[in-house]
Amino acid sequence: MKTIATLGDLTGKKVLVRSDFNVPLKDGVITDDGRIRAALPTLNALLDAGAAVIVTAHLGRPKPVDGFTFEEKFSLAPAAARLGELLGKDVKLASDLTGPSAQETVAALQPGDVAMLENVRFDPRETSKVDADRQAEAAELAALADVFVSDGFGVVHRKQASVYDIAQLLPSAAGTLVHKEVESLSRATTDPERPYVVVLGGSKVSDKLGVISNLIEKADRLLIGGGMMFTFLKAQGHEVGTSLLEADQIDTVKGYLARAAERGVEIVLPVDVVVADSFDAPAPAGVVAADAIPADKIGLDIGPASGELFAAKLADAKTIAWNGPMGVFERPEYAAGTKAVAEGIIAATANGAFSIVGGGDSAAAVRILGLDEDGFSHISTGGGASLELLEGKTLPGIAVLEG
Ligand code: ADP
Ligand code: MG
Repeated sequence: MKTIATLGDLTGKKVLVRSDFNVPLKDGVITDDGRIRAALPTLNALLDAGAAVIVTAHLGRPKPVDGFTFEEKFSLAPAAARLGELLGKDVKLASDLTGPSAQETVAALQPGDVAMLENVRFDPRETSKVDADRQAEAAELAALADVFVSDGFGVVHRKQASVYDIAQLLPSAAGTLVHKEVESLSRATTDPERPYVVVLGGSKVSDKLGVISNLIEKADRLLIGGGMMFTFLKAQGHEVGTSLLEADQIDTVKGYLARAAERGVEIVLPVDVVVADSFDAPAPAGVVAADAIPADKIGLDIGPASGELFAAKLADAKTIAWNGPMGVFERPEYAAGTKAVAEGIIAATANGAFSIVGGGDSAAAVRILGLDEDGFSHISTGGGASLELLEGKTLPGIAVLEG
């Protein structure tokens, strides 16, 4: 993969950077600026190298139909203001993407300056399925700059104009964020140091079929929690009450269990479960054995014995991949299982394991539960993109930066 270092001398060059600034907003105020902060190393490296930087990014899901369509609520203005604060310099935001405002803004840029273009998804060509549409937008973007740097990890699995097509028109490289993401996730999917322990949770088996089937071929041990554990328990012949169950996935899961047995992969399921009378019940009803979930109860977290078991099964790991919370961690009564697993991973990491966290909700859980983010080797910033890498897929926005 081409890195910024392969781009040669950038003094006086105009560098177009695709970043992921898709931050959560409430009443126009950014509630979590993590993605903007994650973009800083690349932007600072380019500025230090004497370049002028033009940032493109998207925010939310505008639905333009007929040409560039500005919509106040999806404007990148709050992101541009926050970026300016973080960089300690003025960041000018063009009011369009490749039109007169963008051209004027870019023409005025001096080395060390940073400008942003408005939401790239205000242009319907950005996400078009028609190659020629995307290529036309990419050509207009390319005309604004000398070099392209791809650093929006959250979008590298998308074949979009500002991610994929533009990389074919300008000298291109991965930014430091994309480079680190790909290096880290590859370490967990290609030739991992063993024992390799994978922890899977989250809501559904059907969301994670690709990840499970790919990792079952690579891991030494698979720990299963979250909503998907019930389909595994059922596949083993246990009743799961009113818990999340995907009846149409039971045969698939039986296939996973058979494949794991064939490969000698240890599958570890919870031994106890925190249950409630209903999903919305005001409080948990108690903890039951995983093979004795009452017919009228719903399982919403792994139990304390399972938390200890999972932590023990993580202790000797040399590589760990974690995707998916162990329970409904958004509610404190059902967060203990996720916390126990996260702490087990942090302990193993302190002992020398290489650990990665993939998946949007899993990364959010680490922050919400107040865990030390530095306790993990790598927390991925891209939900969909990190899952696709864990599935072993080739991502268009990465493939285009190879060679
Ligand atoms: P990620 O984004 O990390 O890939 P998912 O999106 O697959 O994770 O799953 C996260 C969701 O799974 C959370 O909102 C959590 O509340 C839910 N979840 C976890 N355990 C259960 C459970 N036992 N029953 C229902 N939902 C669950
Ligand atoms: Mg999710």
